Amino acid sequence: MALYSIDIMTLFPETVGDMMNESILGRAQERGFIRVDAHQIRDFTTNKQKQVDDYPYGGGRGAVMQADPLYRCWAYIRERFGTERSRTIYLSPCGATFTQAKARQLLADYDHLILVCGHYEGVDQRFLDECVDEEISLGDFVLTGGEIPAMAVADAVCRMVPGVLPDPECFEEESHWNGLLEYPQYSRPAVWHGREVPEVLRSGDHEKVRRWRRKQSIIRTLQRRPDIFREEDFLGSKQDRRLLAEAKEAYEALKEQE
Ligand code: SAM
Repeated sequence: MALYSIDIMTLFPETVGDMMNESILGRAQERGFIRVDAHQIRDFTTNKQKQVDDYPYGGGRGAVMQADPLYRCWAYIRERFGTERSRTIYLSPCGATFTQAKARQLLADYDHLILVCGHYEGVDQRFLDECVDEEISLGDFVLTGGEIPAMAVADAVCRMVPGVLPDPECFEEESHWNGLLEYPQYSRPAVWHGREVPEVLRSGDHEKVRRWRRKQSIIRTLQRRPDIFREEDFLGSKQDRRLLAEAKEAYEALKEQE
């Protein structure tokens, strides 16, 4: 059995399937670390036209996805794949904004997600009240459907499932893992369009490289995301306090150059 399973309820299962079966996540599925399936909500209608939407009570533009096909699809998934640690999430601009911390919590607390993708004007509230545990938003904007947000959530969670990436370091060193943004990355050649890779990265001195990267991460976070920077994380050791002081000095110098 897969370590983590995700079932996506959608009107566009091919789109979701294509994306989730490619590359790293595709290989992880083949190797059995994760299972991701997309379910066509239309298959759970009881009318000939396979209609899933109707006009909104109270008037207004557009259509609303009806509760019953959604419920039948959800009940089928729960019955077949549900576990004691299943969680049902509706992707919605009205939900809490998705973060790396949320992805980590979904991985730690559950082993099965049911992701519900809305379309049109959204979903009948009664389905949400009866079946959905929480709502998650990709950001403060409105998309035509919940497929892209569902794939974003599935991708962010699945890449942290043990075995999917070669080493936990792959994600533990990345932006938003420890409240910092990632340092600048470089690859060959050493000089491109007259721009040189910083000398320290070519020095072969691992400790110097580690310090340089950590310092760059602090500078970048101070510059771009002061809202997430936690100074207290760097007050624990003498080494860190020195690194913080150096990074702040470099950051102030950069600000003066602007
Ligand atoms: N009428 C809804 C509102 O104003 O909140 C927006 C509906 S939107 C056109 C259609 C579907 O796209 C939603 O049901 C939701 O599943 C998805 N969606 C749109 N924007 C989203 C976002 N920022 N995050 C997550 N899902 C989103």
